[in-house]
Amino acid sequence: MGKRGRAQADAGELDLRSEAKPEYTKGPFGMKRRKRVPFSERERIGHEAPGTVLRGPLITVDCECGEKTELHYGDRWSCPNCSRSYDTSKIPRDQYEKIRKIQLRYRLLPIALGAVSISLAIFFTLTGNVFAVFVLLPSALVVWFMLLRPPHRRGFDKAISDLPTWDLRAESE
Ligand SMILES: [Zn+2]
Repeated sequence: MGKRGRAQADAGELDLRSEAKPEYTKGPFGMKRRKRVPFSERERIGHEAPGTVLRGPLITVDCECGEKTELHYGDRWSCPNCSRSYDTSKIPRDQYEKIRKIQLRYRLLPIALGAVSISLAIFFTLTGNVFAVFVLLPSALVVWFMLLRPPHRRGFDKAISDLPTWDLRAESE
């Protein structure tokens, strides 16, 4: 057994599906028991931790014992099972920055579209053209989900498909 865990950046995309995968722990008599999740970590809109946009995508660390966690770049983590510790700042900064830039680039389009829609909605509301607001906003949503999002998503998936995986050396056992 070596002392290596795996770390991979999770270049999360804005996603309105909530991905609640229940986690299980081994209960008595080998039964699977659902792990209690603190309220603050339960389903949110999207599957991103707060601060992901500013601090960059989360890095998934797979400990050799099977334990998994998600960390921000620069965070340290000690595995609660086997007490190996990992330091994500050992990941080459330039490689991480590359992923961070891909993520930001693909996030720009939905944010820009949203900002334009909101500005237009405010403009039409102020100019008394409320009817346009009721036509414009649904149209923007339809255009986004039907026309722009599928190719956008494919491009994003392609961009992140060759993300590097790093071998993080555990600092202690
Ligand atoms: Zn471990």
